[in-house]
Amino acid sequence: MQHSYQIDMELRDAIKALPKAEHHVHLLGAIRPATLMKAITDTGVDSPYDSIEDIERSFEFQNFAHFISVYKQIISLVTEERYFEPMTYELLESSKECNVKYVEMSFSAPDHTLQGLDFELMMKAIERGIRRGQSDFGVKADIRIDIVRNYGLESAMKSLDMIENRPEGIVSIDIGGSEKEYPSKPYAEVYSRAREMGLHTVAHAGEAAGPQSIWDAVTYLGVERIGHGISAIQDEKLMKNLQETGITLEVCPVSNVRTRVVDSLREHPIRTFFDRGLSLTVNSDDPTFFDTDMNNEYVQLHEVLGFTIQELFQISLNAVESSFVDAETKQQMRREFQNDYSKIIDSIE
Ligand SMILES: [Zn+2]
Repeated sequence: MQHSYQIDMELRDAIKALPKAEHHVHLLGAIRPATLMKAITDTGVDSPYDSIEDIERSFEFQNFAHFISVYKQIISLVTEERYFEPMTYELLESSKECNVKYVEMSFSAPDHTLQGLDFELMMKAIERGIRRGQSDFGVKADIRIDIVRNYGLESAMKSLDMIENRPEGIVSIDIGGSEKEYPSKPYAEVYSRAREMGLHTVAHAGEAAGPQSIWDAVTYLGVERIGHGISAIQDEKLMKNLQETGITLEVCPVSNVRTRVVDSLREHPIRTFFDRGLSLTVNSDDPTFFDTDMNNEYVQLHEVLGFTIQELFQISLNAVESSFVDAETKQQMRREFQNDYSKIIDSIE
């Protein structure tokens, strides 16, 4: 008995040690409760939270709509641009703890510019966080801008104007928010303009809405990756399409359980997606809100859905291959990931 327990522990540590890359993590959703509490205290903003424990208690979500309402609450509590620096730095620190070597962090700029914060100052703060984080933790990071579907077409175009004036560090756009109420189709022209600007494209789709939302993102937005995409499981034709096109799904397993869009991890379609040969990555989405991180995601997939260390490493490689980095960086990452993996495998055999 004791022997097998030791093996399990060793395997769990090996899984945590796997090199990883993360593509779907919201900067605001990674804010540490202590950092949020400090922002509240420093600025004196009106807040329903009196303590870190109060903040943590609010992250018990009844459903997806409830999650969105708590998210909005948090947006309103970050009232100065400078807090984006510690948020970014701490996200890279947490990444390092999970052996995440590359992060594409999603920044929902309009959530904050519509509250009166300045885009340029927020970007400068994020870049300071990236510079310090990269030098202290060795984690590479790029930024993607979530244009947020709830604010409409005009706001989305304004987001592109902001990116056009200040493109440094930004590799892609994404569209988050309430996909049921705000479908993708009207944003087709935003996405074609983004492509002309040289940006890569992703869309949240098929998280809290059915497969049509994924079809819309593929057909009208022409995306390279889908955020979540879990409702593809309901549509065999779409499954085949994703198989053939190799469009990558940024799957966020624990998030889906916590916002209750799936009943349990055991019933999550990720196992079927993987077995059917879909290109997929694993991501933490909003690690603070969902009390998760990349180590937890990988370990849960192993323990609940039987993913082997070889399969989990394949997922890490998928993340390298579908990264929006240049060919040379990708080649370096491939080599580094393979080297780390060989050492890990040698150590457990
Ligand atoms: Zn997301």
